[in-house]
Parts: sequence; structure tokens; C-alpha cells
Amino acid sequence: MIYLKTDDEIELLRKANLLVSATLTEIAKVVRPGVTTRQLDTLAEQFIRDHGAIPTFKGFPNPFGPEFPASICTSVNEVVVHGIPNDVPLKEGDIVSVDCGTLLEGFCGDSCYTFCVGEVAPEVKALLQTTKESLYKAIEQALPGKRLGDIGYAVQSHCETQGYGIVREFVGHGIGHDMHEDPQVPNYGTRGSGKQIKNGLCIAIEPMVTMGSPALFMLEDRWGVVTKDGKPAAHFEHTIAIHNGKADIMSSFEQIEEAERQNR
Ligand code: MG
Ligand code: MG
Repeated sequence: MIYLKTDDEIELLRKANLLVSATLTEIAKVVRPGVTTRQLDTLAEQFIRDHGAIPTFKGFPNPFGPEFPASICTSVNEVVVHGIPNDVPLKEGDIVSVDCGTLLEGFCGDSCYTFCVGEVAPEVKALLQTTKESLYKAIEQALPGKRLGDIGYAVQSHCETQGYGIVREFVGHGIGHDMHEDPQVPNYGTRGSGKQIKNGLCIAIEPMVTMGSPALFMLEDRWGVVTKDGKPAAHFEHTIAIHNGKADIMSSFEQIEEAERQNR
């Protein structure tokens, strides 16, 4: 069932999400060749707990195997989502998608950003750019009276016309007291189809886009999901609230992007 939020609840949702954005900003400051994803995880967990929140990903249940062992997902290059942080140093030219979740004052934050490690190949940068653009094109559609299919269509049409693949096995979702609530928010769809968007609807929109084929397989750790063709994938995610007739973005990339520029 879809649970529409009140104005007060939306403000709490914003707080939880701005903490995710602040955490990703701390990560943006330190992403560089030689850093390990485990170091990023340690930093994120400390930062989240220091701000009185809980990292929602830690201990997240898994129908296929062990619960998630870390506070962030770090998905490097061909890993699309749910990468487990490890001790392999990032290297020049890698990309790493860092997905982060918080629970603060009873509400969840959820946002993801794909970072470049040092200088990245132009075609990989273009994949990141297009994926991020598709997220904002989707948010433009998130208005009362529109439908979830309009959101999916916006992502799919923007990415597929440029030759990229759209992951279908994983989708965006409602968010509130729980990180994953109804409805599902696919990154593909038909205009004018699906559930109607209303004021109070709070959703995470999260395009997962592949450079090549979107065919996937799961790693032996039963978490990491990688492209079959080994080509890279990007993932950007915002939590938004439909509020007063418009899409209000709860998370923010502004500080992350500023930190990225300073870190160059
Ligand atoms: Mg996420
Ligand atoms: Mg999400």
C-alpha cells in the first residue's frame, strides 16, 4: 500500500536524506587512487553514527545469503549495485557507485552517486553524465497527475537513445519509515501508464545504466551484481517528495559535486 506523507514527515525525510548527502560529500573528498572501499565504508559508518543516525544498509537481510556486512554499497566499474566494500585499492580510471542509507528520527535516507577515481576515460564520463541527466529528467516528470510510467519512460528514452542499457531487475521505490515501500519505480515504462503521482508521494528514483548490454549476474558473495559483458555501469539516486504540486528533492548532489571539483 502506498503511504502518502504529511508536510512534517517530509521534513524528517529531508533530514535523513541530507545526512546521506553529507556522508557522500565526505566520501567525495577522499575518493582517489589507492583508497580502498573498506576505508570509505569506515568513514561513512562513523559519520552517520556521529550524527545520531543508523546506517540502514548494515545487516540488511538477503533472501539469497548472508545479511549485508557494511554501511554503504561500493560498486566498482562492472559492478552495477550492492558491491561489498573490500581491501582492493581503487585505481586511476575506475568508477565507484556509492549507495548510502540512513535512519534518522524514524525516517530513511537513500541516495547514490557514481564517483570518478582520478582521470576516467571520456566514454565512461559520458555514461555517468547521461545517467545523472536521466535522473533529473525523471524528476521533471514527478508531478501530481503524471504516472510512474512517465518517470520510467524519461529514464529509458534518454539512455537507450544514446545506446546505453537499462537495468530492469532493480528499481526505485517508495521510501519513508522503511527504506523500501510501495510503489516500485522502474527505470523503464510507457508514458501515461502505471500508478498516478500524488502530493505526499515519496520515492527514490535510481537509474542503473550500463555502457553495454544490461544483462547481469550475481557474484558468489550473493550481493554484488555485475554486467555479463564486463562493461561499466553507473547509478545515481535521489529521494524526492511530491510536495505542493512539485517534485522536492530531499537529497542533494550540490555539495558532493563541489567536493568533487575541489578533489581534482
Ligand atoms: Mg540507494
Ligand atoms: Mg534506493
